Amino acid sequence: MTPASKRPVVVTGSVALDTVKTAKGRCKDVLGGSAVYFSMACRFFHPVQLIGAVGGDFPAAMKKLLTGCDIDLTGLEELPGKTFRWSGEFGPDLQNPQTLSTALNVIEHFRPKLKPAHKNPSVAFLANIDPELQWEVLSQLEKADLVACDTMNFWIDQKKPAIKELLAHIDIFFLNDSEAKQLTGKANLLEAARTVKAWGPRIVAIKKGEHGSLILAQDNFYAYPAYPTESVVDPTGAGDSFAGGFLGYLASHGCDIEDPVLLKRALLHGSVMASFTVESFSTERLESLKPAEIHKRYHQYLEMLAVELIPAFAR
Ligand code: AMP
Repeated sequence: MTPASKRPVVVTGSVALDTVKTAKGRCKDVLGGSAVYFSMACRFFHPVQLIGAVGGDFPAAMKKLLTGCDIDLTGLEELPGKTFRWSGEFGPDLQNPQTLSTALNVIEHFRPKLKPAHKNPSVAFLANIDPELQWEVLSQLEKADLVACDTMNFWIDQKKPAIKELLAHIDIFFLNDSEAKQLTGKANLLEAARTVKAWGPRIVAIKKGEHGSLILAQDNFYAYPAYPTESVVDPTGAGDSFAGGFLGYLASHGCDIEDPVLLKRALLHGSVMASFTVESFSTERLESLKPAEIHKRYHQYLEMLAVELIPAFAR
C-alpha cells in the first residue's frame, strides 16, 4: 500500500455559484461551494481531487482557476442543467448567515461514480452536501486512512436519520455550534459533542466562528480561539477552509489522529486557513495566498497562544 503521505485527499461536496451580502458589500454568482473552499485551502498542504457536479452554465474561467491552483478536477462532472446556487446574508455580527435561497439544480440528481484513481485517498472529506450523496461516495472508497464529514442546518432539517447513519462510519465530524445543538437537542456544547461522538466519530470538531473551535478527541477536549482578523469581509467558506487546512495538514503528516500534538497543529492550521478566507468575498484571498504567509501567520498564532517560550523544535 502506498503510504498516506503519497496518496491524495479526495473531497466531495458542493461546487457553487454564490450570491452573498455582508456588512462589507455584496457579490453575485461568484465561485463558492463546500468542496471548492475545502480544496482551495487543502492544496497548500496536500494534493486534492474534487468529486462533484456543475451545470453547463459553470464558467470555464472558474474551472481554469481551480486547475490553475492544482486542484484535480477529473472527478468533476458537467451535467445538463444549472450549477448549484446558494444565496445568503450575514448580519452585522458576521456570524451564522441567513440562507435566502438554495437551488440544488444538478446536485439534486447527481450520483457520483468514482474512477479508480479516486478510490484510495489518504483522507476522504465528505463536505457539506446531501448525506445520501456523501454515503454514495463513501461506499465506493476501497481504502482511506481517514474519513471526515461536515453538514449544515439545511440537511439536518431534511435528512437527520441519514446523517446519523453516516456518522457510524466517520473518523472526524465537523459541524458548527448551532448545528451541534440542532442535531443533538443539547444546549451545552460539551454535552452535544459527547452525544455526537457516541454515534460513531472518533473526533468531533465544533466550529464556533470568530470564537474558535472545540474538539473532542478520545476523551479530551481542546479549545482554541480563532486567529483574530480585523478585516472580516465575508465569512462564507470559513468552515470548509478550516477543514481543508486541518485535513490537508493531517494528510501530509501521516494521519495519526491519536497523536495529540499532530492534532493540535492540524487544528491551528485549519484556523489559519479560515482566517485568510474571511478576508475577501469568494475564494479571492485563497487564490492570491502564498505558503510563506500561512507559515508566518501560523507562527504569530503560536506566539499568541503560548504561555511559555516556544521551544525551537516546534517552529
Ligand atoms: P461554510 O464553510 O459553512 O461557510 O460553507 C459555505 C459554502 O456552502 C457556500 O459556498 C455555499 O455554496 C455552500 N452551501 C450552502 N448551502 C449548502 C447546502 N445546502 N449544501 C451544500 N453546500 C451548501
